[in-house]
Amino acid sequence: MNPVFTPPLHLQRHQFVVDFVRKTKPKKVADLGCGECKLLKQLKFHRSIELLVGVDINGAKIKKHVHGLAPLSTDYLQPTNHQLHVELYQGSVTQRDARLRGFDLVTSMELIEHLTLPDVEHFSSVVFGYMSPASVIISTPNSEFNRLLPGLTGFRNYDHKFEWNRSQFRSWAVKVCLDHGYEVEFTGVGEPPQNQLESVGFCTQIGVFHRLKGSSHGNVLPGSEDEVFSYTSVYSINYPSLHDNNTLCKVLMSEVLYWAHQMTNSWMAEKTGRPNGDLPHRESEQGELEEWLSESQKQRACTGGLACSVDYFGRGEEQECGKLPQQQRSATFNRFVLVPLDGLWSCCPKIRELSGSVENLKQLLMDQPQVNLSQDGSSLLVKCEEQDPEQVDCDLEDDKGTRAVPVSCPAEPEEDWEADI
Ligand code: SAM
Repeated sequence: MNPVFTPPLHLQRHQFVVDFVRKTKPKKVADLGCGECKLLKQLKFHRSIELLVGVDINGAKIKKHVHGLAPLSTDYLQPTNHQLHVELYQGSVTQRDARLRGFDLVTSMELIEHLTLPDVEHFSSVVFGYMSPASVIISTPNSEFNRLLPGLTGFRNYDHKFEWNRSQFRSWAVKVCLDHGYEVEFTGVGEPPQNQLESVGFCTQIGVFHRLKGSSHGNVLPGSEDEVFSYTSVYSINYPSLHDNNTLCKVLMSEVLYWAHQMTNSWMAEKTGRPNGDLPHRESEQGELEEWLSESQKQRACTGGLACSVDYFGRGEEQECGKLPQQQRSATFNRFVLVPLDGLWSCCPKIRELSGSVENLKQLLMDQPQVNLSQDGSSLLVKCEEQDPEQVDCDLEDDKGTRAVPVSCPAEPEEDWEADI
């Protein structure tokens, strides 16, 4: 059959659900007879939804289309506060499964006409009596419209067990409401041409059901015999979210390390007068360094208009490095800049947003193996990046326990390694 509608009817059906979701903002949504997962793929972008479940009797079909529900690389690179868990089950809507209970919205688009009439009865009691969601959207073909579909003889699909007219659909829906404590509104998508809406109706008829307030249907206590698990999970994924502590820490760490280095470089540039912020290679006595240190400790470096103090120290401040590994503590040439956490917190809005308070920031960083905090936990230790291996060798060779000051060796001409090959 050639498409008669623009946009195609299946897209109009899905758009109907999307509009409903936009309006009602459900958190837990299940699509029964999800087939190729097309509706689920649209729904996963809706921020209100935290749990998105698909069920279909055809497990192979779900598996074939599941890739469209996997997180995108941007979901990992820029996780948001949105929490989303997607779960797909192979199973029949005529059977109960406790994991489908307590949803805000259950949809079943173009499914019931694929069931035998006895199975429609099972479907009604499973969906309305057992799952008992707050809202249900059910769509099915309106047989009265069939005469307007060019070239159609019989049902619209070979697998349809029936196609109801509007009155048959209404009778079933009203009975369901009476049996299970719901109310229903009727609507549809796919309008007939020229004022025939009243006489023919929509091509797809839709019932939107709402559970009546105070209805106690479907209240099954956990652990009772009704707590059955008849569906098989075929796909399950947690989208990366800042609500997940691991994800939060990863994003926070990358922000902290970026800003700590920015602030360090900025301070160094100011201190040294060099744009790249190299540490001064000081060929000086201990006293001179101490004088320089005490001056620098007073210094306030300004980053982004917000002040933060940064300190520089060498071996003289070893005792400050509470969290430093032994090999770093004993090295005379390791040099660090102290970046106060409150400076980081006030400089970077993202760090503020992610951590909430300086105290939280401190707690989150304390558990991170890749950062070193000062002993009182108030500052981050940023290792100076200009380490010169030649200088290191020089320090070790010369150090007879008398020198506490990192010294620069006279610069040697760079070797051309490639020339040796
Ligand atoms: N809902 C989708 C849509 O609107 O694009 C797919 C509709 S498709 C016409 C009907 C789907 O219902 C098929 O994917 C089929 O496998 C599924 N189905 C049929 N009987 C079912 C049952 N007893 N339990 C669960 N799914 C069933």
